[in-house]
Amino acid sequence: MARSPRASVPKSAPGRRVALHPGREKPVLNRHPWVFSGAIASVGDDIVDGDIADVVRSDGEFLARGYVNRRSQIVTRLLTFTDEPIDDAFFTRRLAAAIAARSPGPTRLVNAESDGLPGLIVDRYADFAVLQASTLGMDRRKRDLANRIAGLAGVRGVYDRSDVDGRDKEALSPETGTLFGDDPPELVAIDEATAAGASIRVWVDVKRGHKTGTYLDQSENRKIVGRASNGGEVLNLFSFAGSFSLHAVAAGATSVVNVDSSADALALSERNANENGFSDRIEHVRADAFDALRRFRDEGRTFDGVVLDPPKFAHSSGQVDRAARAYKDLNRVALALVRPTGFLATFSCSGLVSTDLFQKIVFSASVEAKRDAQIVRRLTQAPDHPVLLSFPEGEYLKGLLLRVE
Ligand code: SAH
Repeated sequence: MARSPRASVPKSAPGRRVALHPGREKPVLNRHPWVFSGAIASVGDDIVDGDIADVVRSDGEFLARGYVNRRSQIVTRLLTFTDEPIDDAFFTRRLAAAIAARSPGPTRLVNAESDGLPGLIVDRYADFAVLQASTLGMDRRKRDLANRIAGLAGVRGVYDRSDVDGRDKEALSPETGTLFGDDPPELVAIDEATAAGASIRVWVDVKRGHKTGTYLDQSENRKIVGRASNGGEVLNLFSFAGSFSLHAVAAGATSVVNVDSSADALALSERNANENGFSDRIEHVRADAFDALRRFRDEGRTFDGVVLDPPKFAHSSGQVDRAARAYKDLNRVALALVRPTGFLATFSCSGLVSTDLFQKIVFSASVEAKRDAQIVRRLTQAPDHPVLLSFPEGEYLKGLLLRVE
């Protein structure tokens, strides 16, 4: 599409530019949205943290435009690689494009960098949207963005869950509250589609639940696990609000045991089981999953399928080795509990543990458990959590559906 030249954008004054060191423009030319402090020669004196600024090559040539935070390792997050104004119309265009790409129902409407809006996550649950700003640049604009989101997504309220990990790296403290419209109730009901095209009712605690209330990234995998569970007895470790179990029972699982260490998660899970008429088939165990696995193994208990969806274990590259040992430990014991020809659906949501590394970890676990297993399906985050090709860091959830011999 031809664009008319935008004469309205004057060349930025040196005081409003972020200038790179010579030879450090490659990632920007490759349209990667992060500019780290090490690549930067100078940040103009007229820039206040949170402002929009131009990123220029060492010779002053325009490369990109984004918002700045000197207090972060990522000093600039890029919004555009075109010389266009970053104004209200820009944000409306980006939000509208992201929202237009989503289907009706509970969904991630805006997936941060991968939707061209670094630092901004927006999830929709029924007629409420939940916003998460992880950077100063987005935090400063969140009220205005919430108004636009409400109009574009047709929700009656936008709630702020900017109490996400990582805000400290931007020198931000946690913030929550209603940003626009109505205050959401304590629990919002959503309807999740099952593999068979039916629907399951799930209560979401948007004000206090994990992330923005629940884990939308697993929506497709729940259907896959559901299909694998038909007629079987399933163990769901790290079950949270029990969504995997609801899908399993809806698809014909005869019983599911949920294990989670959080009393709040289990209470919500019980409520969800009840709501769907599944209470007779879903049992709840409050325990550390590592301990529960060992106890089940020692008791000789086995299952037709095991779901293993732990929280993020690696929060920094220094934690990857320890995370790998924890994943291997869990997978080894979980494999031991699977009946012959049963399944293990195993996940890692640590972005720092690559898909390759995760497969190697699960392989080592299978060797130690002396259980051969086939990869029946590789699993990843749902399509409403897209990954921008120029931003591979956006891919964090990986999983394997294994058939265990
Ligand atoms: N599978 C869930 C999401 C899991 S999130 C879903 O589909 O929605 C991770 C869950 O693990 C949280 O509910 C948290 O309470 C629980 N958790 C964290 N550490 C745990 C531990 N050591 N043992 C058991 N549960 C744990």
